[in-house]
Amino acid sequence: MRPLNATIAACPPSGIRKFFDIAAEMDDVISLGVGEPDFVTPWRVREAGIYALEHGYTTYTSNAGLPRLRELICADLAARYGADYDPGDECLITTGVSEGLDLALRVLLNAGDEVIVPEPCYVAYEPCVRFAGGVPVPVPTRGEDGFAVDAEVVRAAVTPRTKAVLLGSPANPTGAVQPRAVLEALVRLAEEHDLYLVSDEIYDRLTYTGAHTCLGTLPGARERTVVLGGFSKAHAMTGWRVGWICAPAAVAELCVRVHQYTMLCAPHVSQLAAVEALEHADADVAGMVADYDRRRRVFVKGLREIGLDCPEPGGAFYAFPSIRSSGLDSATFAERLLHEEHVAVVPGDVFGPSGQGHVRCSYATALPKLEEALVRMDRFLRRL
Ligand code: PLP
Repeated sequence: MRPLNATIAACPPSGIRKFFDIAAEMDDVISLGVGEPDFVTPWRVREAGIYALEHGYTTYTSNAGLPRLRELICADLAARYGADYDPGDECLITTGVSEGLDLALRVLLNAGDEVIVPEPCYVAYEPCVRFAGGVPVPVPTRGEDGFAVDAEVVRAAVTPRTKAVLLGSPANPTGAVQPRAVLEALVRLAEEHDLYLVSDEIYDRLTYTGAHTCLGTLPGARERTVVLGGFSKAHAMTGWRVGWICAPAAVAELCVRVHQYTMLCAPHVSQLAAVEALEHADADVAGMVADYDRRRRVFVKGLREIGLDCPEPGGAFYAFPSIRSSGLDSATFAERLLHEEHVAVVPGDVFGPSGQGHVRCSYATALPKLEEALVRMDRFLRRL
């Protein structure tokens, strides 16, 4: 047979999935592994989905998505961040941020264009750059700096082929929230070198130590920034597959161009549920955020007490402690912790080389389980 697509064939399977297949076959595992809320979608939102099905909203929507949903998204961004996006031609509904990321990169990149990606980062970033014909250029961040991006390190990676910087804040896997000054420095750099900024803001509502900055609202950023957001995390809607892109009209138009051929539209029922989520679920979200914050405080304090240095995670629902004091590398630590104490965490180097010496622990898990995981991790560390 002729060879399959070489770029895709060269891309390794996600290091996260591989690990959890092992965990799935064990008893009594406490999983701190999956990046998914442990809450079910708020009832009123599920009810809106049921209503939509009952009343036969089972067709395609317009390619860009329901106008009402786009209006609500732009109004919400305006209310919370002072953003100024036109629901008519600067916003489209995607099948999750996953599709948004893929669309944005395909629209921005020509073959061989480089995209600077601060790491450790979400596992899809580098593969998606490659699938779009681009070349990911990872740049390191450090636990000692709370995984803040150093704009000078980014600057040093700029070449004549650099087209964009791809960044997630709050971040998976570190929980880091990029300080506003860092984002401003990146915007200045983007202006100097005429770069696009792709800003994955899927965790924007999950911040605990300070307000989120929407990158598209910073001076000079709007015309060169693609903001990605969605409902999976804060609204506990991972399975519904709804996200959005807000971008300058020329970029948004081409995103719709690809989307109309490849996806047609995001699921209609899910879009109607997302309308309900934006109209009436703020209190539900606030309740979940308060719960994550309680767990975050207990868990991060606990990690530090058992001797693991943990940078303060200001957002998302991940802690990314250093495990260097154990003398083990990330993969060995995670494998042994799973086999010996039945606690599943993700080796940090899965998210990039700077993740070596760390593990990702999701605290989207009930508090008693987090406490039990800490007991087991403590026992594991003492035995080493
Ligand atoms: N971006 C980040 C940083 C994520 O952590 C995830 C999921 O884990 C996604 C995007 C994908 O989100 P969605 O469910 O909206 O496709």
